[in-house]
Amino acid sequence: MFFPLCFSAQKIENIFGDKTEIYFSFDFNSKSKMDMVSKLISIDHKSSKEKIYAYANKTEFSEFLKLEIDYKIEEEAIYKPNNSTRSTWDYYPSYAEYESMMQAFADSFPSICQLHNLGTLSSGHKILAVQISDNVGLDENEPSFLYTSSMHGNELTGYVLMLRLIDEILNGYGTNNSYTYLVNEVDIWINPLANPDGAYASGNNSVSGATRNNANSVDLNRNYPDIIDGPNPDGNSWQQETVIFLDLADSVHFNLSCNLHTGAEVFNYPWDRWSNLAADDDW
Ligand SMILES: [Zn+2]
Repeated sequence: MFFPLCFSAQKIENIFGDKTEIYFSFDFNSKSKMDMVSKLISIDHKSSKEKIYAYANKTEFSEFLKLEIDYKIEEEAIYKPNNSTRSTWDYYPSYAEYESMMQAFADSFPSICQLHNLGTLSSGHKILAVQISDNVGLDENEPSFLYTSSMHGNELTGYVLMLRLIDEILNGYGTNNSYTYLVNEVDIWINPLANPDGAYASGNNSVSGATRNNANSVDLNRNYPDIIDGPNPDGNSWQQETVIFLDLADSVHFNLSCNLHTGAEVFNYPWDRWSNLAADDDW
């Protein structure tokens, strides 16, 4: 369906209802215009060459409407509560359970695990990370590694996988050779939930209703300094979450890090921005 421009403001209100972001699709095969479109809206990871799936807040969607591209509003996957328990790892914890799990990791394994509150958001949600290493807290001559998951608040597979990984490593230390080696030789940091305001957008008891964006309807994955477009590529000021992670990168020298999303099998070139080979490509 196509909506004339003059109706777009009211149309946007009707389309959004009480939502802060919508999910939609459209056919698109213009490689040359892709860069322009991807600056207006957030392209979802599962998009193909011809069919684009995307998220937009109201401002972004009104810009998209100006392109006069036919689109379709899509249903988002709903996280359904089930009867599983934490012990099967087939389960999304409540926000309070998440905080207490992170605290319990540190309390149960104090010699190899420390809990860090990297920052508290206006909502009261915390950006938490555990640091796992032998002699944890001592600055040793070891490489530092960071896993951070779910900066898109509705991409939550990695959230549970990271909690499970923490549990596995801590319980495997001293018995599992691989985990023992990693803990002894690496300074491991794991942040299971980088966008708690998005994940718990509908309340702290459930991730049903999770949003991609943060509480300000900003896509955190477009909010970082960009190698081509400068410090504020999305036109928004740095969000609290962004500042927290920029500060972390300033205070811990991570030799390697991995940022987990959900929805497709994608591995990005360094910078996630251009196809130039990285400076250490030979290595
Ligand atoms: Zn993502």
